[in-house]
Amino acid sequence: MAEDTTQGTPHVTDHGGGVWGIKVPIPDNPLGHTLVHVLDTDRGPVLIDTGWDDPESWDTLVAGLGALSLAIADVHGVVITHHHPDHHGLSGQVREASGAWIAMHAADTEVVVRTRASEPGVWFDYMSEKLATAGAPEEHIAPLRAARASGRMRTLPGLRAAVPDREIVPAELLPLAGRRLRAIWTPGHTPGHVCLHLEEKHPGNLPGNGRLFSGDHLLPGISPHIGLYEDPSSERVTDPLGDYLDSLERIGRLQPAEVLPAHQYAFTDAQGRVRELLDHHEERLTGLRELLAAEPLTPWALAERMEWNRPWEQIPYGSRNIAVSEAEAHLRRLVKQGRAEAVPGSDPVTYRAV
Ligand SMILES: [Zn+2]
Ligand SMILES: [Zn+2]
Repeated sequence: MAEDTTQGTPHVTDHGGGVWGIKVPIPDNPLGHTLVHVLDTDRGPVLIDTGWDDPESWDTLVAGLGALSLAIADVHGVVITHHHPDHHGLSGQVREASGAWIAMHAADTEVVVRTRASEPGVWFDYMSEKLATAGAPEEHIAPLRAARASGRMRTLPGLRAAVPDREIVPAELLPLAGRRLRAIWTPGHTPGHVCLHLEEKHPGNLPGNGRLFSGDHLLPGISPHIGLYEDPSSERVTDPLGDYLDSLERIGRLQPAEVLPAHQYAFTDAQGRVRELLDHHEERLTGLRELLAAEPLTPWALAERMEWNRPWEQIPYGSRNIAVSEAEAHLRRLVKQGRAEAVPGSDPVTYRAV
């Protein structure tokens, strides 16, 4: 596995075969950093993800490229694994400085366009309504309603995210001169998440099929957040956890020799990690079904009883919303599998085991 080998620049890792990783910090975030990958092509360097929109992150990205004797102006293209701000945040600034194109899957581009166009008020109404439906107590929803009524709404990240100019088409090779990089659509973490499969022999001759840039889909030590795809304009009942589990199996079948994720560190044995994550979610689903067998629960009540990295009382406000979304994604899956059902006539809707 590659180490930090580029001399004197601890932020840059040479992965061999014209692939480097730059550790771009995410301010005030336990994740620490995004691994922005640089892929050498015959038309110039291409970035896979860009990092958080922050001056220190930008400086680190520029310095990392500098250590490779590259300038931001040299960047030929930007390929985005998914729309989250720790991946897509600096894309606009990179494009401005270089004229590079930005490519993203259509489903995530849709999120970017929708977020840019939406009034903050619409989002606050949507969240209040969604939380009430999930069974959140009034005291949790009240601050949202109060902020809405006062007009003092925090700006949301992603309001000014760059609109991509190219579409990443699933299963197709990206048009990169001299490289074979294929898009694998892996919805779940976001509706348009993609992994990128570098279909070239591993430079260190590790056994397996090339290398996989896995974004947030497959990480060595973290299970990515799977919530509901939030779309105030759609009534469509989606099953993001089901999408995610299917996407995991697809990646396992690729059998890449090495995985280059967007956080943490590069690793081998993708299949083993896929199996661990599939087992983890199956255990979680089984545990949740047991909770529903004891008593019918709203998504909120289920989230309160689920196991998190700390007791529910200590989970901050915003993280509770994410936790409820995660509980709902698991409920959707259980309902889809016929292992749980909504209790007819309950309001807010409670679910029971089947
Ligand atoms: Zn993400
Ligand atoms: Zn991320």
